Amino acid sequence: MAYIQFLGAAGTVTGSKHLLNVSGDGTGKTGTQILIDCGIFQGKKEWRERNWQDVPIAAHEIECLILTHAHLDHCGWIPRLVKQGFRGPVYATPSTIDLCSIILPDSGHLQEEDAAFHNKFKTSKHDPALPLYTLEEAQECLQYFKPVDFGVVKQVSPDVSFRFVHAAHILGSSMAEVTVNGSQSKRLLFTGDIGRVHDQHTAPGKVVYSGPQPGEMVDVLVMESTYGNRNHPKTDPRPELATIIRKTVERGGSVVVPAFAVERTQKFVFMLKELMESGQCPRVPVYCDSPMAIKAVEIFLKHTEEYSDATKELISKYGSPLEWQGFTFAQTAEESKKINNSRFPCIIISSSGMVTGGRIQHHLIQRLPDPRNTVIFIGFQAPGTRGFTIKSGANEVKIFGQMIPIRAQVAALEQFSDHADTPELLEWLHTFSSKPRSTYLVHGELEASNQLRDAMAKDLGWNVQIAQWMQKVEI
Ligand SMILES: [Zn+2]
Repeated sequence: MAYIQFLGAAGTVTGSKHLLNVSGDGTGKTGTQILIDCGIFQGKKEWRERNWQDVPIAAHEIECLILTHAHLDHCGWIPRLVKQGFRGPVYATPSTIDLCSIILPDSGHLQEEDAAFHNKFKTSKHDPALPLYTLEEAQECLQYFKPVDFGVVKQVSPDVSFRFVHAAHILGSSMAEVTVNGSQSKRLLFTGDIGRVHDQHTAPGKVVYSGPQPGEMVDVLVMESTYGNRNHPKTDPRPELATIIRKTVERGGSVVVPAFAVERTQKFVFMLKELMESGQCPRVPVYCDSPMAIKAVEIFLKHTEEYSDATKELISKYGSPLEWQGFTFAQTAEESKKINNSRFPCIIISSSGMVTGGRIQHHLIQRLPDPRNTVIFIGFQAPGTRGFTIKSGANEVKIFGQMIPIRAQVAALEQFSDHADTPELLEWLHTFSSKPRSTYLVHGELEASNQLRDAMAKDLGWNVQIAQWMQKVEI
């Protein structure tokens, strides 16, 4: 009577897109079609090419979209879906909507820039190279977003309702608990991305609530597995970060941090502020270079209701980063170029976090060849991205068609992760009040999903399968 089809994030960490078909006649051709998340594929070419494929059903037949959070690999394909004729509501929490209102237009802008670059240098086999969607198209799709608060039950069709529960991943992030009413009612949980289970002490830098909602009781669980084979270090990253900055500045170098412009960047600047105020690291100029940097700070400060006590304390102690001396938020391309030309030690935080696009590319072209500089990764780097190449110790990386030698130091602070690691995932699963009838792992490289499946089978005795791309599973 109902099935889920995995249209993305199956066998990989990007492109999250799950179609729920609830059909009265069991054929799957009619009935209610609901999409949970609508992310863009990033990383390897074989994945990115899937961004150009249409969804397997007519987009206008999709009743609604339930969006778990504002990361591009969960929301970045929405403008494309609208371009294909989707006109239904996009349900999301109010803070997710605020974040999407800056992230999606920025993504459209980057798509346009990429296409323009390929057309200028004839580096694409397509003539002309086209953007997946434009800034204007991304802006237009925002009219379909409809806010749904955490915990509120939303009826989306006569037989389907859902509510958002906290995922504790990023600002506004949620899991979608979907109830399908038929001859027997069924409960499905789509986790989106799962945040750190523990509090500030074991997950330093975590800004939102501690831990996803415990005590779930579901029939079908569709769960992420990004860190299904990983344990995050439990040490405080602050002393390590301070040492890296100090050493870099002492040798006359600069620190470059590729970071997602929203939230990740803000929590990093609060940490820098704390380190500088306490004298643990030198006061060098800090530049946040992103066209959406200022708006991102404003949204970050608007939604303090979702923050941990430690984050709230930091905000009340230091106020808005836009007012801090020595911290510059660059919005225009001109301001960005100025930072690029700076010859004195400084800290540059710029996006995109996986170096798949954006101004960070210019900063890395400039700084990677100099061994005095340091690149610090504070986020997940998907295989196939430039960030992954740099982080894995390569000698060179291709940016804007040119090979850039990597002579700068490269460091990674995994403690910043907003994803639960394997022990944390298992800890959360142990809080479930009953065993789900079936569990499908998505959003993980195959090795991570495999290991998590084995750990879950051993630790919990659950029936766990790894979702395959385009696979339909009956529920
Ligand atoms: Zn995410």
